[in-house]
Amino acid sequence: MMATLLKCGRCGEASVYYRYYSGERLCRSCFIESIIEKTRRTISKYKMLSYGDKIGVAVSGGKDSLTLLHILSKITSGHASEIVVLIVDEGIEGYREEAVKHAIQTCNELGVKYRILSFKDAYSLTLDEAIKLRTDKSLAACTICGALRRRAIDQLAKEADVDVVATAHNLDDILQTFLMNLFSGDIWRVARSRVLEETSEPFPVKRVKPLMEIPEAEVALFAYLKGIPFQRASCPYMSESIRSEVRSILNEMELRHPGIKFNLLRSYLKISSNLKLEAKSLVCSHCGYPSSNQICSVCTILTKLKSEANRAKRPNTTQT
Ligand code: SF4
Ligand code: ZN
Ligand code: ZN
Repeated sequence: MMATLLKCGRCGEASVYYRYYSGERLCRSCFIESIIEKTRRTISKYKMLSYGDKIGVAVSGGKDSLTLLHILSKITSGHASEIVVLIVDEGIEGYREEAVKHAIQTCNELGVKYRILSFKDAYSLTLDEAIKLRTDKSLAACTICGALRRRAIDQLAKEADVDVVATAHNLDDILQTFLMNLFSGDIWRVARSRVLEETSEPFPVKRVKPLMEIPEAEVALFAYLKGIPFQRASCPYMSESIRSEVRSILNEMELRHPGIKFNLLRSYLKISSNLKLEAKSLVCSHCGYPSSNQICSVCTILTKLKSEANRAKRPNTTQT
């Protein structure tokens, strides 16, 4: 909400933002500082990072991940901590190229090292190719993309030898995923998505979400006010996910019942941490990664797609 005629409650300058859930009006610089401070507090409250950590920051090139990179690079400057940016190129023609360009440009501006891994190199097929092969339409693009991207980030994190991976999930992302996992009827997923991921289960490298207490709209405003260039176009496969429906429902409810998102966050934190002890933790019999089933989701997806590819090749080989 813009309110340029009113004054910032912290310094008296013209305000640019009204934070309805705290009742504060903030100018540009106090708003930016408040987001950095909030991130710092979240990191400290959940002991996300330790002094001297080598931090892998998963960057897609969108507003959230570039905001996270800016904030972490500011928070850690002057500390012994080192940042390595982890970029995954899923291979989505006409979409991902621009995002990767923004990610690399920001790394160069901030003087941060980066590593890139493409789906093509990791799995011998791009996301576009995977979608073309898919005949089972119940296998959503985002399910394939999410599983393969998480594994690619793990691979990059191991190669870069980082202590912890920071991802840019904001408050809205966390709540949407929580509700989507409840809707899917798979309670293990709620445990698996818990805020502080420990090593070994379910990921080989600890994962943290420093923006988890910041609403998506405030992350977007931070990126805008800081003039961070980011990928604005939406992914062509987005419509396959129910995430946008869940986002609308949550936003409508927040409008009618301000503060409901933070209440839901508290519920999610309690439920996911209590489920932690009961979460199934196996090792995939194909690849040896931690898994909730005998065969992990990545191996299940790749096996399915390979058999689709073989079936697609068969007519040509029998005709010759
Ligand atoms: Fe991947 Fe889905 Fe996100 Fe597109 S919208 S990048 S397919 S997870
Ligand atoms: Zn101010
Ligand atoms: Zn596996």
